[in-house]
Amino acid sequence: MIMSKDENTAEDIKPTNFIRNIINKDLESGKHQSVQTRFPPEPNGFLHIGHAKSICINFGIAEDYNGLCNLRFDDTNPAKEESAYAEAIAKDIEWLGFKWNGDIRHSADYFDKLFAFAEELINKDLAYVCELSMEEMRSYRGTLTEVGKNSPHRERSVEENLAMFQAMKAGEHKDGSMALRVKIDMGSPNINMRDPVIYRIKTAHHIRTGNDWCIYPTYDFTHGISDAIEGITHSLCTLEFEDHRPLYDWFLDNISIDCHPQQIEFSRLNLEHTITSKRKLNQLVVDGIVDGWDDPRMPTISGMRRRGYSASAIKDFIGRTGVTKKVHTVEMSLLENSVREDLGENAPRAMAVLNPLKITLTNYPDDKVESIQAPKHPQKEEMGKREIFFSKEIFIDQDDFRESANKKYKRLVLGKAVRLRNAYVITCDEIIRDSEDNIIELKCSYDENTLGKNPEGYKPKGVIHWVSASHSKVATIRLYDRLFNVANPALEDDFMTTVNPNCLQTIDNARVEMSLTTALPEAVYQFEREGYFCADRYQHSTDNLVFNRTVTLRDSWAKIEAKN
Ligand code: ATP
Ligand code: MG
Repeated sequence: MIMSKDENTAEDIKPTNFIRNIINKDLESGKHQSVQTRFPPEPNGFLHIGHAKSICINFGIAEDYNGLCNLRFDDTNPAKEESAYAEAIAKDIEWLGFKWNGDIRHSADYFDKLFAFAEELINKDLAYVCELSMEEMRSYRGTLTEVGKNSPHRERSVEENLAMFQAMKAGEHKDGSMALRVKIDMGSPNINMRDPVIYRIKTAHHIRTGNDWCIYPTYDFTHGISDAIEGITHSLCTLEFEDHRPLYDWFLDNISIDCHPQQIEFSRLNLEHTITSKRKLNQLVVDGIVDGWDDPRMPTISGMRRRGYSASAIKDFIGRTGVTKKVHTVEMSLLENSVREDLGENAPRAMAVLNPLKITLTNYPDDKVESIQAPKHPQKEEMGKREIFFSKEIFIDQDDFRESANKKYKRLVLGKAVRLRNAYVITCDEIIRDSEDNIIELKCSYDENTLGKNPEGYKPKGVIHWVSASHSKVATIRLYDRLFNVANPALEDDFMTTVNPNCLQTIDNARVEMSLTTALPEAVYQFEREGYFCADRYQHSTDNLVFNRTVTLRDSWAKIEAKN
């Protein structure tokens, strides 16, 4: 379902939601005295906007109830996990402004305990070593409409199971040759309850435990037990785990542990024109479609940061999407509106000319340079002023000039006047062309009585931005567009075929005002009339100005999409 803007009413922004209602009841009834949540990412990629939702919910609830939120790396799949991902994940959470409780935890910290709980299940005759191959197991499992069949190994003795499980641990068996399964019910209508595997043999190096283990617990077995070990009260996860909840509860009901967190599911955040799956985002990185996980086009937290989105804009957006069980896909414009609102308020203004066209002011003294104090923010005097320079040669944008135009065109036209933002009114007198008839320069005259004053006897058409030729710097500017051409790339057979080939346009010879030479990496400005731009976190320096377009000033996509 596509969520329209109208549905994001104040209702959704209200801080209460169904999860909070459950927590409120648990506190009122005395079931819990305090709230303990956790955020459990798998370190197999960078966090994306969907994870930001889970982070805001888990850490946000802990904050609001004076509770605690653990950060736990769910690292049960050694093949795909890397420490670099774990480090990036921790940094992203900090950058969003959240603090986890105590040290970072790892599922791997509980491998010994998990092994002991598995032995407990064997001892209770609730787990057995099964030697069916993967395919056999699949065919024994049955389908949604057909019940499963018991494994021929289901009735081994406890002693035999214990010995075989020890042998699995000791590395005496090949990968995939056997697995430990729990004994629940092959006839259960819920496939997750049909004797799921809880340990598999995998000869792999683990980022935390090295080569200590050659058997690894499955996610379902590990997750709930790790929650209980940590004393989690409410285990908040996404809807795809709803069918796993009976299993989550079964494990905790059948092992000796005196904590039973409540699993509560909410709907995932899906965002139009992008992808929220680490596996698919990884493919964009591996195939070189983007320049790494933190490329500004990526919906990763680090990509959005590099694009110039602030943590508070991201959190504002997440708040607007609400917490529900409704499956929905949110329009990108909702996120961009949060970003625009934040930057409109906080970004200092500056002038940059993306496609420079030279103007010579024929009546301006040759060597004169004027210093003009321009406000950093039109509504916020407290942000102070910046110094801009005016001189005989200036640049305006090629788009801001027409040889002739109708009345709707409120920029510079041959023979007409326009105001230069923060400076004088000029009139275009002459066009200079090259041998191929391209316009390469304009000769204009300025009205010296118009600095901060209206001209007498005529009215200029509009206001355009500009920079002085001698007092500006060349900059590289990157314009970003939607990463995918379709709203729901994840629904395509091959999402890679829907990558927008024009999602990045690089301009090498833009001109920016001098004040921007002191821009610090990650600072975001409003380039007047052009949009919001962020000094690149890695590549921007005083000697090499690089700005990434964060977002346009208005939602130009809404119009395009309405037309299509
Ligand atoms: P991915 O497919 O991108 O790897 P995942 O769910 O496998 O997603 P995890 O690292 O296991 O990623 O997720 C950590 C937590 O973030 C989980 O609790 C998960 O439910 C939550 N999460 C992941 N994606 C989203 C999303 N799109 N919206 C909300 N929560 C999400
Ligand atoms: Mg996962």
